[in-house]
Amino acid sequence: MLAPPLQRLVGELAKLPGIGQRTAQRLAFHILRTSGEDAAALAEAIRDVKEKITLCEVCFNLAEGPRCQVCLDERRDAEIICVVEEAGDVIPIERTHEYRGRYHVLGGALSPIDGVEPEDLKLAQLYTRVENGVREVILATNPTTTGETTALHVAAALHQRAPDVTVTRLASGLPVGGDLEYADEVTLGRAFTGRRAV
Ligand SMILES: [Zn+2]
Repeated sequence: MLAPPLQRLVGELAKLPGIGQRTAQRLAFHILRTSGEDAAALAEAIRDVKEKITLCEVCFNLAEGPRCQVCLDERRDAEIICVVEEAGDVIPIERTHEYRGRYHVLGGALSPIDGVEPEDLKLAQLYTRVENGVREVILATNPTTTGETTALHVAAALHQRAPDVTVTRLASGLPVGGDLEYADEVTLGRAFTGRRAV
């Protein structure tokens, strides 16, 4: 049996995705062996991320302060908005260096089975942004069933509300059923340049 403080750390680590009991135990023992400084830095980084990271008031990307780095960057084209499901999807797109517009993070994908309805996503905020001088909306939701459902829903709503705005979807070639997060830069970059009107 482990000493209670160690057991508590194992329990907390085991709550993380992809971390089973055995890995949690290994990590806990590693932290126990590490210097007091390194362990404190880890604890502080975890606390900081909860205290300092907020959602951008414009695009709902992660931000430190009211606006994210992309929205603060005047060189980014404000007339193109790339719609993604999660803030984590911005990172692989940025890595491709193919995209110089802004983002809009929905905060999930439509999934009636799981009870995720349009009003649970940042859709109303997207429609408001699009009405203010946007020329293209790129739907970069995941190539999954819920991602496709979301893209279709948003495309239909945009055609109705803002008929002058071009709505595009990333070209196929992305691994079906996978997340954008796991797509490699070259494939994702190609999907961007080959995007099509929907
Ligand atoms: Zn932003």
